[in-house]
Amino acid sequence: MMKFTGKGVYGAIAVGKISVYERQGIRVKRIKIEDAEAEIQRFESAKAIALEQLGSIHEKALKEVGEANAQIFEIHMMMVDDEDYNDAIFGMIRTQNVNAEYAVAATAKNFSEMFSSMDDSYMQARAADVEDISNRIIACLTDGHSTNTLSDEKVIICADDLAPSETVSLDKEKILAFATAHGSSNSHTAILARNMNIPAIIGLGADFLNEIKNGTMAIADGFTGEFIIDPDEETLAAYQKKQKAETEKRMLLQELTGKENVTLDGTKINIFANIGSVDNIGAVLLNDAGGIGLFRSEFLYLEKTDYPTEEEQFRVYKKVLESMATKKVIIRTLDIGADKQADYFHLEKEENPALGLRAIRLCLERPEIFKTQLRALYRASVYGNLGIMFPMVTSVSELEEILALCDEVKNELDAEKLPYSNLELGVMIETPAAAIISDKLAPMVDFFSVGTNDLTQYTLACDRQNPHIERFCNTHHEAILRLIEMSAKNAHANGAWIGICGELAADTALTETFLRMGIDELSVSPSFVLKVRDAVRKIDLTRPEPVC
Ligand code: PEP
Ligand code: MG
Repeated sequence: MMKFTGKGVYGAIAVGKISVYERQGIRVKRIKIEDAEAEIQRFESAKAIALEQLGSIHEKALKEVGEANAQIFEIHMMMVDDEDYNDAIFGMIRTQNVNAEYAVAATAKNFSEMFSSMDDSYMQARAADVEDISNRIIACLTDGHSTNTLSDEKVIICADDLAPSETVSLDKEKILAFATAHGSSNSHTAILARNMNIPAIIGLGADFLNEIKNGTMAIADGFTGEFIIDPDEETLAAYQKKQKAETEKRMLLQELTGKENVTLDGTKINIFANIGSVDNIGAVLLNDAGGIGLFRSEFLYLEKTDYPTEEEQFRVYKKVLESMATKKVIIRTLDIGADKQADYFHLEKEENPALGLRAIRLCLERPEIFKTQLRALYRASVYGNLGIMFPMVTSVSELEEILALCDEVKNELDAEKLPYSNLELGVMIETPAAAIISDKLAPMVDFFSVGTNDLTQYTLACDRQNPHIERFCNTHHEAILRLIEMSAKNAHANGAWIGICGELAADTALTETFLRMGIDELSVSPSFVLKVRDAVRKIDLTRPEPVC
């Protein structure tokens, strides 16, 4: 028995035999050619075949992993046609009189090295994409093809790394798990594995490659990242038990993936997910959330020992947006203070920190910190469907100040010729003041998102950190429900939409109440998405309203 530990990118367990992924090795030789234009013609013909193949893979991916994830193959098609890439190949054929295979391989190496050396993990992961498309073109030039045929038995695919097109070209029905020595959790391969609902572990290390043999039994634990080769009977039995329990749990809810969030009478609602880190995106996709309704950006600050730079933040926001493709992502600006403290902010000790300098108040007091975040957010906005929302707002004048800072940032970016999108701006309704003046706030923004955790704390005067007063902290209190209803009416009367992102959004005892209020979106922990969908699908709003 031998154990390796990597990074689980999709939480599930697989027990089965290893199948080592073999790549058809194509040796590319440098050959001197006489007729450069004829060689370019050969390249163009191979390119056309590669584009046709990618078109079919894209079709397959659309059916198996959905539009958002199939997009990578559209990007591959664009890369094949990319002007810089093509010019580099033409240039090499013409100036060095080399064969097309060699020009493609050399250009792929240059581009891949360039991507790998970039200080951006997303761009680094693109190195694998350029190698993938180039290998395909070379295979087309040499009549080779890179299909890996699998036996009828389901297997655990083990490889050094897998390109996105290799991942999606494999017959999903015959794969128990993916395990690779290399790879990044941000690679599209990892994203695809997650979306194919196949346990996957990456980064098992080079030694792993020396130990894998076709037909050997193995266990892949996508939860812990453990990969066990040739397990003893006791380990095998323990994992089979764990696997059975997980499967039973998942199957019950998985039946709801891909289904609409629609009531029996046809009323629809968005169910989004809350996250605190990029690492949670796998769970968001796995649980089929329609978007991200709350990204608590302060965790980015809390895990650091100094202020995260604009560039650092930009990379994280961009990664989240790209991973979610066209789905909505709402990022909540810094909500630090009270229970969330970071030493380097040097905040003074307060008697009542929950009522003190936290969230938007801190941002307005220290606009340089706020503007750094806004700049990163606006710059990232071109990579997806972004909404920004502001926590702890209590007045119109605060919102005016916030919007003025947003305009300032946009003007700066215009002057620097940096692009940004026309994104949605929202206010969190988490103070009674915000709910009561929601008629004034709504015309100023695109959406509201109700933070019921704080709304409960501030409405009922119950410190959310104090376990001794829990019995006074009735989250179903009429005052809270009235404030939410009032905010919903005011949002809709002013053309804004309204969601709920506090913990109450996942309370299925209130799902019908929220639907009757006209709430447009519920944002919950990823693992609750299917539970709430289940509740929504059992509601009939034409029936008389139940008395709470
Ligand atoms: C809330 O207050 O309900 C909320 C979503 O924000 P947080 O829990 O992060 O304060
Ligand atoms: Mg809050």
